[in-house]
Amino acid sequence: MSKTRTTKKAACEDCFFARNLLCALDLDEPCPTFRPDGPDGLRPPQQLRFAFRQERRTQAAWAFPSAQEQATLHAH
Ligand code: SF4
Repeated sequence: MSKTRTTKKAACEDCFFARNLLCALDLDEPCPTFRPDGPDGLRPPQQLRFAFRQERRTQAAWAFPSAQEQATLHAH
């Protein structure tokens, strides 16, 4: 995937779960569950991609993606 691909900023108003009244969270900003809503509805998730971190050994090898990373990954 190209890193230069532009994606709309993740926002709860554009989230599938908010639009379908499926979100029970009361947050001021989009959460890592963010999935963009679109004509196809919710698309199945892609295989998770490994992101190896070299900086520190004590750091977890995997972390939940941010809402913006979810928006980029699932952009329609
Ligand atoms: S981004 Fe998270 S908090 Fe916002 S509507 Fe979607 S699921 Fe709810």
